Amino acid sequence: DVPIAQLDPEVAARIDAELARQRRGLEMIASENHTAVAVMQAQGSVLTNKYAEGYPGRRYYGGCEEVDVIETLAIERVKALFGAEFANVQPHSGAQANAAVMHALIRPGDTILGLNLAHGGHLTHGMKINFSGRLYEVAAYGVDEETLRVDMDEVARLAQEHRPKLIIAGWSAYSRRLDFARFREIADEVGAYLFVDMAHFAGLVAAGLHPNPVPHAHVTSSTTHKTLAGPRGGIILTNDADIAKKINSAVFPGQQGGPLEHVIAGKAVAFGIAATPEFAERQQRTIMGARILAERLVREDVTACGVSVLTGGTDVHLVLVDLRNSVLDGQAAEDLLAEVEITVNRNAVPFDPRPPMVTSGLRIGTPALATRGFSDAAFAEVADVIAETLIAGTAPGGADPATIAALRARVDVLAAEHPLYPGVA
Ligand code: PLP
Repeated sequence: DVPIAQLDPEVAARIDAELARQRRGLEMIASENHTAVAVMQAQGSVLTNKYAEGYPGRRYYGGCEEVDVIETLAIERVKALFGAEFANVQPHSGAQANAAVMHALIRPGDTILGLNLAHGGHLTHGMKINFSGRLYEVAAYGVDEETLRVDMDEVARLAQEHRPKLIIAGWSAYSRRLDFARFREIADEVGAYLFVDMAHFAGLVAAGLHPNPVPHAHVTSSTTHKTLAGPRGGIILTNDADIAKKINSAVFPGQQGGPLEHVIAGKAVAFGIAATPEFAERQQRTIMGARILAERLVREDVTACGVSVLTGGTDVHLVLVDLRNSVLDGQAAEDLLAEVEITVNRNAVPFDPRPPMVTSGLRIGTPALATRGFSDAAFAEVADVIAETLIAGTAPGGADPATIAALRARVDVLAAEHPLYPGVA
């Protein structure tokens, strides 16, 4: 029963340092968030000790009476949140959830049709060396070269050409909404399942600020740790009883052994939070923050440096910065923002002329800052800091150190004004 600080000071010191890092800087990786202390308490609980293979009421181990209640709470809460009739809350991650969906609905060698990774799709949507690309034949749709949006006529054409068994709608780097009803029509026309991966925008859906894919899709998956702000993990939802059975058996015993009941408890807590008006208000600020950022990054002083925003704006929680016409590449821009203590990730843009390790884009998200309490005014300030940092980075000879120091000082003020986990030592 020795506390970690005494038992293992080496690891404890790094955890403390990570907390300090998160507090000091501004987290703008679009797939990240700061989960609630209550979620972390659930995850750090004795539930981690428990084996519970099976499902509530149908376990292969004794002593599951408490975890049965917890898992049922998670299931009922997430069903209510998204209006789904069936939910599986056991996937250890988003990738595991997606693997289980494919395992449940299609066979190796079948064709899947998903968004091209280079145009914003996820690894599990058919990337060559991912399980999805190795087990299945992959056809991919991209975005239109002019509009940089998914072209539904092109999706329909590819579906007719390749006759996929499964069509995937969802993304990791796309700043607009998808037309789920049209996706379903196309899937029905070719006899495919429609699978929506709402990992990125699930929190917006929960708040009623983004169309809900669940009524349109045969099956919907999500991570629980992005906009949804829960513990790291995955979920699968459906309204079809037969599909629900197949999903349950694909998750356990198909893909996984014992569920992580401590994480499932964290999911239950997070789903409870996501049903509150405070959560909806936070998601509103998340979207507003992304809009403010996009507006700032399309102003004349930024575009004059060859920096712009893909599609000219955003409908969601992230902005995709287009550096194709800038001397600054994705890697350099990411490094420069790190110098001012803003964490983002470089990201390939569609039709990217630079190599994948360098890229010509940045993906910048607002969920973590919204959780930290950022108002529109605070988002406007961080948008100015980002714009000025990128402008500084395009100066001949590189960014002036004094300018960077001044920008970092403004980030320090924002971080101090929005304390993270103030009650946590
Ligand atoms: N699906 C989408 C759309 C994602 O963006 C991600 C994560 O980035 C995943 C699935 C995978 O989630 P995880 O990292 O939990 O496996």
